Amino acid sequence: MRGLAGKVAVVTGAAGGIGAATAHRLASEGAHVVAVDLDEERVRKVAESLPTEGLGVAADVSAEEGVDAYLRAAADRFGRVDLHHLNAGIPGSFAALPELTAAEFDRVMAVNVRGVFLGVRGAFRRYAAQGTAGNIVITGSIGSLRGSADLLAYQTSKHAVVGILKGAAMYGGPLGVRVNAVAPGIVPTDLFAATPDVTGGKDDMSVRASSTPLRRAGTGDDVAGVVAFLLSDDAAYMTGELVSVDGGASIVSTVRP
Ligand code: NAD
Repeated sequence: MRGLAGKVAVVTGAAGGIGAATAHRLASEGAHVVAVDLDEERVRKVAESLPTEGLGVAADVSAEEGVDAYLRAAADRFGRVDLHHLNAGIPGSFAALPELTAAEFDRVMAVNVRGVFLGVRGAFRRYAAQGTAGNIVITGSIGSLRGSADLLAYQTSKHAVVGILKGAAMYGGPLGVRVNAVAPGIVPTDLFAATPDVTGGKDDMSVRASSTPLRRAGTGDDVAGVVAFLLSDDAAYMTGELVSVDGGASIVSTVRP
């Protein structure tokens, strides 16, 4: 893909799942990756396993100090930051609406919305300080498009990042900064495993995947390829887009005709 080789890319939530896959994909395209996660041990291992020189940073994306720390670490090691994949997220607990506590709602918003806001703001501040433009991709979800009675905080948070996406794309466009998002469907990661089995003990993953047009679950690499494309110059005329990477799940009507 054009325009990735030699760039410096921050990937948050990079200790596993989609973030680790993106870190590997960007590095295989020749970028230097700053892999960020709460999980220090795993994120360092990811950074060490990359084909280009990388850096693992333990930081909390929901805290201003955490975002400042990973941007500083990236600039100290590589001199600048060009690309951002703001991907860290948590599922929140499964609860019917009357049982969902305000504390749990706030916990999910802090990581999934505040973390993305701080990451986007940090990216723009970094570009301004460097006098350069760069590109940003946010990880949304099929939950950015649909509601869920039992994962209400998570789905709400994933709708909220679309607001950040659109506002940041409008702000960034005249500066030459593109901001896009991916909306994964079913990807078997730790996060997916933490969501409840809705099939009453049957194989949740295969039941859900079999109802999608492509009849399979996605992989981290499926998502990483689209993230890399959106961060690359091959997507030079795309901004403000939420791109579904879900095997077609979002086009399926859930209401019988
Ligand atoms: P994952 O659990 O493997 O990855 C999420 C990572 O984020 C973890 O490594 C975790 O330690 C990290 N993290 C959580 N809170 C953090 C914080 N405060 N600061 C720094 N790091 C933090 O799961 P994943 O499926 O790879 O999730 C990546 C993104 O993809 C999430 O935003 C998730 O909502 C989104 N997503 C996943 C699916 C799916 O089916 N797996 C579907 C749609 C969207």
